[in-house]
Amino acid sequence: MTGSPLFDLTGRIALITGSSRGIGNILAYALADAGATVVLNGMDPLRLESARVALAQRIGRDVHARGFDVSDEDDVRAAVADIESTIGPIDILVNNAGIQHREPLLEVSRADWDRVIAIDLTSAFLVGREVARAMIARGRGKIVNIASVQTDLARPTIGPYTAAKGGLRNLTRAMTAEWASAGLQINAVAPGYIHTEMTQALVDDPDFNAFIVRRTPAARWGTPADLGGPVVMLSSPASDFVNGQVLFVDGGMTVIV
Ligand code: NAP
Repeated sequence: MTGSPLFDLTGRIALITGSSRGIGNILAYALADAGATVVLNGMDPLRLESARVALAQRIGRDVHARGFDVSDEDDVRAAVADIESTIGPIDILVNNAGIQHREPLLEVSRADWDRVIAIDLTSAFLVGREVARAMIARGRGKIVNIASVQTDLARPTIGPYTAAKGGLRNLTRAMTAEWASAGLQINAVAPGYIHTEMTQALVDDPDFNAFIVRRTPAARWGTPADLGGPVVMLSSPASDFVNGQVLFVDGGMTVIV
């Protein structure tokens, strides 16, 4: 056991989508540190394997990896069945995989709109539905959807992402309405501006960087590590009566005007 039993994930299996790098990768470390057996996911097989080896070396236990496209229904169905039969029951699902597309709405093509909605919103439905079928049969499970401050706030040039993340809030509620009585807890974590590859261009832009520091009461960018504690809490017995909530982890950005 690691620390308080409230946050102990020993013996639990956690699938974290989009965990070959960025926030998902750090969340996998946090869940593994709390005792979980983790299954990494991503699209690029070489990156995924090197992430698997690095985490296994760091924790000294088995780490699993399954490369599949979270927006492809057949791929998702096959991967979840494979994980359940070869690794074990998925106790924790973190729907983290996501992409960004920056362009004014008037110029966004239908194809780009569909791609962002598919990877940032439909994927959580597809993977969530598949995993929940087995969780419901077992009478327990934790699903954590990774949302964003764009769940609540809009900004020019990221319309499809904003629509997807707003949808993720209500998908979290819809899953709760239908699955909470079966013993599942489904919640979302909404990160503020976090320094990762996805946001490197914004960090490098002096004006945008100054805007973020000024606009955030904590006066800094977040780090992926800032998200580990909240996701472990929502994956653990500490949150067994927390249902359908969005926990903003944003340095206070969404509480001020
Ligand atoms: P990132 O560094 O760009 O990493 C994205 C991850 O998702 C990679 O592992 C990537 O795999 C994987 N991925 C992308 N498309 C996929 C697909 N179709 N199927 C399976 N895996 C796929 O992103 P990040 O910044 O860590 O963001 C992670 C999540 O946090 C996203 O949902 C994002 O919206 C959210 N978020 C980020 C921030 C921020 O400031 N960074 C703020 C709020 C919310 P490959 O390596 O194979 O490409």
